[in-house]
Amino acid sequence: MSDRIYNFSPGPAVLPETVIKKAQTALWDLEGSGIGVMEHSHRGAEFTAVLDQAEAACRDLAGIPDTYSVLFMQGGASSQFFMVPMNLLTGNDTADYINTGSWSKKAIKEAKLFGSVHVAASSEDENFSYIPGGDSVQFSSDPVYVHFTSNNTIAGTEFAGEPGAPKSVPLVCDASSDIFSRPFDIARYGVVYAGAQKNLGPAGVTLVIIRNDLVERAPQDLPSMLQYRTHVKTGSRYNTPPAFAIYVVGQVLEWIRNFGGLDKMAEYNQAKAKLIYDFLDESELFYGTARPDSRSKMNICFRAKKSELEAEFIAQAAKKGLAGLKGHRSVGGMRASVYNAFPAEGCEALVAFMKEFERTNR
Ligand SMILES: *Cc1c(COP(=O)(O)O)cnc(C)c1O
Repeated sequence: MSDRIYNFSPGPAVLPETVIKKAQTALWDLEGSGIGVMEHSHRGAEFTAVLDQAEAACRDLAGIPDTYSVLFMQGGASSQFFMVPMNLLTGNDTADYINTGSWSKKAIKEAKLFGSVHVAASSEDENFSYIPGGDSVQFSSDPVYVHFTSNNTIAGTEFAGEPGAPKSVPLVCDASSDIFSRPFDIARYGVVYAGAQKNLGPAGVTLVIIRNDLVERAPQDLPSMLQYRTHVKTGSRYNTPPAFAIYVVGQVLEWIRNFGGLDKMAEYNQAKAKLIYDFLDESELFYGTARPDSRSKMNICFRAKKSELEAEFIAQAAKKGLAGLKGHRSVGGMRASVYNAFPAEGCEALVAFMKEFERTNR
């Protein structure tokens, strides 16, 4: 680990060490070209190879067929909150949204600017501590899409599988904080989008995977930058793309491939989360805040029964090289974000420290 510490930050978040090392070299000299990755023309052969590699790795990892476009966009996942309805929610159509937390609420707020929104289910009644399912989810009669947030970064909950919308309705998923943490069936989706800075790379690029027939549905009179078709037609190069961020995303995807792909990644993430949840379930001081059937494997939110100890816990943990454990300011408590690149040893170190803290604070 050299001089690096365990970084539980929710995003920007830890990246694989091998990727950072490779990026260091590429900053100086990309693949022996004598020019760094940040300095190459975005239209030149070298950057074209970077973009092609990132797209190919993405398609290979998740089995994305040619009927979908893979885009590298800017403006964060937050811009997709408006781009999705701006392009897909037109005329008298209705879009369904599942409200599972702060990010879903933001997506709903933006969608309402463009058309009719039906909130098919919400877990706001219980502080977003669970994922609604079964009869509590009521879809409208003919939605153009069903939007959901697969992993709720702030509340620490995660959909175990796709919501049970009718098969003919495309799902639109904000997968910012769990993309490529496990396999998913792209055929069920119309759009999957994710800001890179949690599970994919540095901030500054947003991955958008979109079904081609939906791209064509958008009104023609939107500003060019805000139409998906512009980015599809130009291969994510209508304007200058965030070249370095795309390079790192490509390397992270390659790292996941070398790890063994999404099945192996999912197994590892499951095992890491289990280390922490198992301890939370037996602890007399700490407890997890998400309902057990809705627990996130990416963001593990927990509290101390004596809440006055929480600030002390976070401060002492930081001194032990366990950084970024403070919960989101809107919910308080603690949060351990353990994305793909976060090592199992860090989860073990956290549990060991929690045990010690519990022993000395009875
Ligand atoms: C962080 C996050 C966002 C916001 O992403 P930006 O790229 O900062 O706009 C949206 N949705 C989820 C689920 C997130 O975790």
